[in-house]
Amino acid sequence: MTLALVAAMREELAAVLALMPDETRVQAAGRDVYRGHLHGQEVLVVLSRIGKVAAATTATALIERFGASAIVFTGVAGGLGPGVRVGDVVVATEFLQHDLDASPIFPRHEVPLYGRARFTTDPALTGRLARAAREALPEAALHQGLILSGDRFVSTTSEAKALQRELPEALAVEMEGAAIAQVCHDYGVPYAAVRTISDRADDAAHGDFTRFVQDVASRYSAAIVEHLLA
Ligand code: SAH
Repeated sequence: MTLALVAAMREELAAVLALMPDETRVQAAGRDVYRGHLHGQEVLVVLSRIGKVAAATTATALIERFGASAIVFTGVAGGLGPGVRVGDVVVATEFLQHDLDASPIFPRHEVPLYGRARFTTDPALTGRLARAAREALPEAALHQGLILSGDRFVSTTSEAKALQRELPEALAVEMEGAAIAQVCHDYGVPYAAVRTISDRADDAAHGDFTRFVQDVASRYSAAIVEHLLA
């Protein structure tokens, strides 16, 4: 069992790496992959970079070249659900690409030739991740459900409202999760993802995002990872 921990932001990766006593760095697909141990378990840690293609490349390299047998993503996202606030935690049960549209040939959001728009996360790993998040951050509200991904930093109130109207159950929006979910589906590799809410994907998103990433994101993901592997 080799668990791969993926983060989007350098700050989060640094906080997780600081917990590893013995990491060695290997370069692959233009990324630094750190191999080592956390609480005695073999782990791979890598920064995916931002966006769906970068995330898909990262997941593929982790599985093909490094033998990752499960992938856990920790990162930040914009809140969309009415009760999903900055500082809350969202654990994904399923993902959808909100910017995928091959209509009218395929229904809106459906991934062509997969016959589906949504990719679910692994229930067992997701349950462990939700427990870890609850233990690590007992003060934070925890939500579980649908997360949207797309190649856009959603930072206007009008776009956030349009997504809420179109996909009312969506809890949050980010830029990587659905791509990794699709790769893990292709390979049959268990996947789970947790996102702390950095902003509300609205007109204030840019400032909120920047503050949250500097002040909170790194501590949150390191705490969740610690509890996941403890
Ligand atoms: N303007 C930012 C861009 C970062 S992209 C900057 O200057 O650095 C935002 C990253 O955080 C992505 O990895 C994405 O997954 C996540 N994210 C957080 N809030 C988001 C939002 N409102 N919309 C889309 N992605 C968001």
